Amino acid sequence: MSQTSSLPDQTGTMKTMAAPYEVSTDRISSVKLSLTYLPLATPTSDAKVLTGKQKPLTEIAFLFAEIGTEAGFEGVGYSYAIRAGGPGQFVHAKEVAPELIGVDPNDIQRIWTKLMWSSASMGRSGLSTQAIAAIDIALWDLKAKRARLPLAKFLGAHRDSVPCYNTSGGYLSLSIDEIISNAEVSVDAGVGGVKIKVGHPEPRIDLERVAAIRDALGGEIALMVDANQQWNRTTAIRIGRALEEFNLTWIEEPLDAHDAAGHAILARELDTPVATGEMLTSVAEHRELILKGSVDFIQPDAPRVGGITPFLKIMALGDQAGLSMAPHFAMEIHLHLAAAYELDSWVEHFDWLDPLFNERLEIKDGRMTVPERPGLGFSISEQARSWTAETAVFGEGAP
Ligand SMILES: [Mg+2]
Repeated sequence: MSQTSSLPDQTGTMKTMAAPYEVSTDRISSVKLSLTYLPLATPTSDAKVLTGKQKPLTEIAFLFAEIGTEAGFEGVGYSYAIRAGGPGQFVHAKEVAPELIGVDPNDIQRIWTKLMWSSASMGRSGLSTQAIAAIDIALWDLKAKRARLPLAKFLGAHRDSVPCYNTSGGYLSLSIDEIISNAEVSVDAGVGGVKIKVGHPEPRIDLERVAAIRDALGGEIALMVDANQQWNRTTAIRIGRALEEFNLTWIEEPLDAHDAAGHAILARELDTPVATGEMLTSVAEHRELILKGSVDFIQPDAPRVGGITPFLKIMALGDQAGLSMAPHFAMEIHLHLAAAYELDSWVEHFDWLDPLFNERLEIKDGRMTVPERPGLGFSISEQARSWTAETAVFGEGAP
C-alpha cells in the first residue's frame, strides 16, 4: 500500500508524487536462539578471584537471538553470562520465544512488558530479564535496520564517536610489566584511556601498580581503576584518598554493588568520581543508586538490565541527575547507546568478543567510531557458529 502526497513543484503547480515509504504491516515469522561458548585465550582474574569468591574466567556463555520477519528483515541481539547462568538464560528464552511469532516487531515496549510479566514470578530482574534482553536487543537492531540507520542515529545520536578505554589488558592476574605493555599497545591502537583492576588483598600492591602505570602512561591518557566490589567502606575511603594524586577518571565498584548508601558516602568524600552499576539487573536498582547520589558515572549493561528498552529508561534517569555514563562491557551494543547520551560517556573496549562477529569497530584518536552500517552493525561469524552448543528455532524461515 503506497502513500501519495501533493507537493508544489518549482512553478508552484501541485503535483502528486509517491512518498518513498510505506506503513509496515510486517510480523515476526521466526526466532532462532543459540547458546554459544566463547573461549578466552588467557584465564583472567579480578579481585573476586584473589579474595577466593570466584575461579579465574576461562569462557563466556552467549545467548544469541536472531529474529526474522515475513518481509525478510532480521535482527540480532545477545545476552551473556560470566561463569554460571548461560544454559539458564537459553532455557528461559526458549520458554518465552513462542510468544513472539506473528507479533508486530515494532511494538518493542509491548513485547518487553509481555515477556517480562510472563515470567514475573521469577523476579523482574536477573536471569529471566537477561534472557529477554537478547530478544529486546534483536528487535532494536531489526527496527534500526529497517529504517536503514545505525542504532545510534535511529535513537537520535549526539555524536558520531565516543571516547573509549581498554579494560582487557589490566587484570590482576598480570604483572606490572604486562599491564604496562598491554596499555602501551592499547594506546598505540588509538584508545583514549586505560583501566586496571585493583582490590588486591594487599592495598600497597594496588597503589604500586597504579603509580607504575600512571608513570608509564604520563598525564594525558585517562586512567581508571576497578575494585570489583572487594573493599569495605573504610578501606575504600582510605585507598580512595591515597589514589587522589593519580587524577583517575573514576574509581569503579569500590564497594558491594548493592551498597547504595556506602557509595553515596564515597561519592561525597572523594574528589575522584565514583562509578558503579554493572552488576545491577533492573531499572529499579539503578534508580536507587541515582536517587541516593551514589554515583558520578552510571554503568548500566544492556544485556544485564533486560535489553535496550530498560537501558533507555536508565539513561533518562542519569541524564536528569546530570551524571556521566560508562556502560559495562558489550561495546558492540553500548557504543550506540553512549553516542545517544547527551552528557559525558565512555565506551569500554574489550577485544574478547571480536571472534564472535564478522565486523570490527574503528578506534582512532582516543575514540570509537559509530559504524555506518544499519542496526547494531554486527553479524554472527562462522567461528561463533562453530562454538554453538545448542540452538532452538521457532516459526519458519530462520537463518
Ligand atoms: Mg567493572
